Amino acid sequence: MKPITIAGAGLAGLSLANTLQAAGVATTLHEAHTLPRHRVCGEFICGKGADSLARQGLSDAIAGAHPHRSIEWFMRARCVLKSTLPSPAYGISRYQTDQRLANRFEAAGGRLICQSRWSVAPEEGVVNCSGRQSTRSDWIGLKLHSQDFVTSADLELHMGDQGYIGLSGIEHGRTNICALFKLRPDVRSSKETLLLAYLRACGLTQLAERIGASQIDPLSHVGVAGIAFSQLPAPRPASLQLGDAYSVIPPFTGNGMSIAIESAEIAHPILMDYANGMLSWNDACRSIHLECRQRFKSRLKVAQALHPWLTQSKRHKVLAALGTAKMLPFRLLYALTH
Ligand SMILES: Cc1cc2nc3c(=O)[nH]c(=O)nc-3n(C[C@H](O)[C@H](O)[C@H](O)COP(=O)(O)OP(=O)(O)OC[C@H]3O[C@@H](n4cnc5c(N)ncnc54)[C@H](O)[C@@H]3O)c2cc1C
Repeated sequence: MKPITIAGAGLAGLSLANTLQAAGVATTLHEAHTLPRHRVCGEFICGKGADSLARQGLSDAIAGAHPHRSIEWFMRARCVLKSTLPSPAYGISRYQTDQRLANRFEAAGGRLICQSRWSVAPEEGVVNCSGRQSTRSDWIGLKLHSQDFVTSADLELHMGDQGYIGLSGIEHGRTNICALFKLRPDVRSSKETLLLAYLRACGLTQLAERIGASQIDPLSHVGVAGIAFSQLPAPRPASLQLGDAYSVIPPFTGNGMSIAIESAEIAHPILMDYANGMLSWNDACRSIHLECRQRFKSRLKVAQALHPWLTQSKRHKVLAALGTAKMLPFRLLYALTH
């Protein structure tokens, strides 16, 4: 069988590496950094992602996850919506999930090479799972873990002026606190207090006090800038991108990890045909691209259209009014973005 090389050990790369290696394809996985590590992510995996992991035989990666059923939305300090999720979702740290998938891959005989930045230029047998491309943008993502933060629902979403933050239960009773903010040059702070400084700057002062008073894991502070949300990409000859390398969905959906996992699932049978010599590399790339487009097109479009509603204060009033009047079609919007 032809071997396969994967650039990037995020959820797309790790999922695909595991299923290819388990099916007998000699798989090499290059990761530019070290594993495991804390990542900027809400760590909320929706039902589609969990179902996809199950179909790929990788459910043990999320064993012990916090089960999510309830969600509450806040504008400033006011709760405008309480709802249940249309399907169960799961909260688990990337640190834990990545480590389990990496261990499993190596135990199956796969080659994981960390601190190895692989070229993602189009090349036969090389799958680009290198995540979103860093680009000039106005967005900054910040995250930390609290060990004793008490939330009023499994998932709390708070909207402020040009930013929002999710508080999501994860394993061992911890809470992931992850936010996306419009960059503000006037907000300057140390790595440890930057998230709180941004919360205050966007009007979420009470929440900043609550988080500041909780026990924060000092090793969990991470941040990332240069986040852009992409449209549906056009296919490129002999080139295969999965997960965020394919397209980046706005984070409020809590769907990026699912897209990464699902895209690996889509790619697996087609790459098996390539590895077995039944399909050319070009045809394999084209088929996977088409299937990804079909599966993710509407999610990506709806999420892009909704994103400004979460970040622009003038639109918050409309959302708040609809939420308070119980007219916000949350479950429908959730279904459309998942
Ligand atoms: C603020 C924020 C909150 C989010 N919250 C959620 C959420 O709650 N739920 C959800 O489902 N999604 C969420 N997401 C999105 C989610 O994190 C991503 O969609 C998901 O991590 C994509 O997985 P991936 O495998 O495609 O890429 P990544 O997880 O980014 O992995 C890519 C890997 O490739 C490595 N790499 C890069 N270049 C190379 C190279 N040339 N060679 C080798 N290795 C390379 C990187 O180091 C990295 O480890 C959030 C994103 C942000 C920014």
